Amino acid sequence: MRRTLVLAGLCVLQMTVAIALAQNSGARPGGVENQTQSAAQFAGKIATNVNGLEVTVPIPHPPRGGLYVQSHAPLVAAPFMKLPIGAITPRGWLRHQLELEANGMTGRLKELSPWLDFEKSSWASPDGSGKFGWEEMPYWLKGFGDLGYVLKDQALIAEGRKWIEAILKTQRDDGYYGPRMLLTSLQGKPDLWPHMLVNNILQSWYEYSGDDRVIPFLLKYHRWLNAQPPSTFSNGYWPRIRFGDNIETCFWLYNRTGESFLLELAQRIYDNMAPWRNGIVNWHNVNLAQGFRAPGVFFTGSGAPRDLAQAEANYRQLIDMYGQFPGGGFAGDENCRPGFSDPRQGFETCGIVEFMHSFEMLTKISGDVRWADRTEDIAFNSFPAALTPDWKGLHYLTCANQVQLDKNNKAPDIENGGTMMSYSPFEVYRCCQHNVSHGWPYYAEELWLATADNGLAISLYSASEVVAKVGQGTEIRFVEETDYPFRDTIKLKLATAKSVTFPLHLRIPAWAEDAQIKVNGKRQMVATAPGSFAVLSREWKNGDDVAIKLPMRVSVRTWPKNENAVSVNYGPLTFSLKIAENWEKYGNRNPNWPEYEVLPASPWNYGLELNPRNPEKSFKVVKKSGPLAENPFIAANAPIELHAKARRIPEWQMDKLNVVGKLQPSPVKSDQSTETITLIPMGAARLRITSFPVIGHGTDARKWVANTTDSKAKN
Ligand SMILES: [Zn+2]
Repeated sequence: MRRTLVLAGLCVLQMTVAIALAQNSGARPGGVENQTQSAAQFAGKIATNVNGLEVTVPIPHPPRGGLYVQSHAPLVAAPFMKLPIGAITPRGWLRHQLELEANGMTGRLKELSPWLDFEKSSWASPDGSGKFGWEEMPYWLKGFGDLGYVLKDQALIAEGRKWIEAILKTQRDDGYYGPRMLLTSLQGKPDLWPHMLVNNILQSWYEYSGDDRVIPFLLKYHRWLNAQPPSTFSNGYWPRIRFGDNIETCFWLYNRTGESFLLELAQRIYDNMAPWRNGIVNWHNVNLAQGFRAPGVFFTGSGAPRDLAQAEANYRQLIDMYGQFPGGGFAGDENCRPGFSDPRQGFETCGIVEFMHSFEMLTKISGDVRWADRTEDIAFNSFPAALTPDWKGLHYLTCANQVQLDKNNKAPDIENGGTMMSYSPFEVYRCCQHNVSHGWPYYAEELWLATADNGLAISLYSASEVVAKVGQGTEIRFVEETDYPFRDTIKLKLATAKSVTFPLHLRIPAWAEDAQIKVNGKRQMVATAPGSFAVLSREWKNGDDVAIKLPMRVSVRTWPKNENAVSVNYGPLTFSLKIAENWEKYGNRNPNWPEYEVLPASPWNYGLELNPRNPEKSFKVVKKSGPLAENPFIAANAPIELHAKARRIPEWQMDKLNVVGKLQPSPVKSDQSTETITLIPMGAARLRITSFPVIGHGTDARKWVANTTDSKAKN
């Protein structure tokens, strides 16, 4: 069936889409014992052609059920719902990362950041006067608050609460709140971008505390917002591009109040903001990482399959053009630039955490496993190395190939001038310094999700404990024990006061062939297709245990759009060359908060010798025995290593800006002797080569040409 979708109320949608709405065509293999359909209950798939890119997404059609806050009509029901913040207690390495964060940059940022000066901040003054009234404090508090709630750390919660109490006191009678200067800061017009962050702060506080002042406060603000002219949503640069964030808040608030003006407001925002519904509208890293999802978020309101497909299409186009290397990010060292798509280009730390947040949101809206897979990809492989192992410094740009982190200017190799790669806790990385806060806390809140069919889902695997209602409202507790992603088994233990029937949805990542699930030691005959949710629907009893095995294998990927370089994965983990790291302190601004350059102390210019018939066989997997290190994201602690054969490529050097030379076409000739090299998880490698040239011996192998990257790429 081919038809044109005409969407009421949406302008400029002239696209023809081919839709296949065959019943259950997007569903799992069926007909096996002990299986129900996933909560997503896919009604069909939509295939759409966007800018020459064929995109197919499953369209969720879950029951409008669940024991937590479900979308209310006329909004589209969600397959998965967030559990109240605090229901999930993270354990294992994830908890350790959160504790490092609490004792590091996020927890102690007020020692460093003038924007967090409570006495001077216009976010904290009752009449909205004062200084520092833009995004910095909200960026920080957005994650700082959730960090406290997730860790149940009363000191953090109290400190965040001080700000929240102050913000609640800034509201005017007409509903506007916060810094008054924002009302006219865009050439006389309002800049409401920072408010989108504060809305999120208050949403989290409400989800954690149930504070009954929050809903009336947000309603009053949104009434004020709804009274603004349409141009409010197309003002400026950041607000116009990022207003999709406020659409999520409109729906969140609607589901808790039933106030229909919020749906009209969401529509007005969508109609007037930058039109991500038509494709990519802006090439700024962070704008992309949060803006691309806007049509997918709006799908909840429109119900138009095309909107959900557009988010996938935006993502796909971005990755196709600029994400042709491992790590889950893309080449956007401020903006994506034509001619700058080599793995030496950088991905901003703000972009990393915003991408994670976008993927987590789309997982709940769509029920599509791909978004959870993508969350893990960037969380495991790019995020940890954006920070120092102690969380007391970060850098602006993380690159798949990045062999030296010095403080010197790298422009125009990368777009921004000045310090971009060395680690610092200071305002040289002002946005990331504050915004990094929500990466792990939000992630920890999304490990387990409530489902529309009154069950639970594991979206992201991590050691954790969850307390949640299932079935007819019975409260149960699951303890999840695992060293995932460094081990391939996950064990669940159930505690329940009485037997209860409910479905348990277990994510089977796209890379996980032959996943196995046992309940009380007995293999379950459930469909476990890679890229799906396996569903265990049964009467559960106290003490039941579930064992999930997601067999991890070496996989090798070739990147034709980046000179046929290759990268290697073991399960969800991408591996990088282990380069000896020489950490050198610089500056002396604050002895408690050192800055570091990291310089290579071993060779890095290797090409891989691959088994031509079976590249995967080129790697020997070496697993460390014993308990997992508290922080596995340190080179010395790497729980898994891969050993491989390689030869050096002497002509491959850093250029005059000390940026790793660009890739050249593989296969590459080398007359150097073969060596055994060690690869470690990318997230543990602060220096790394992740996109490798391949050594060749045939007539097609080319010689590497020295110094070509000193010539400037065309802009
Ligand atoms: Zn940033």
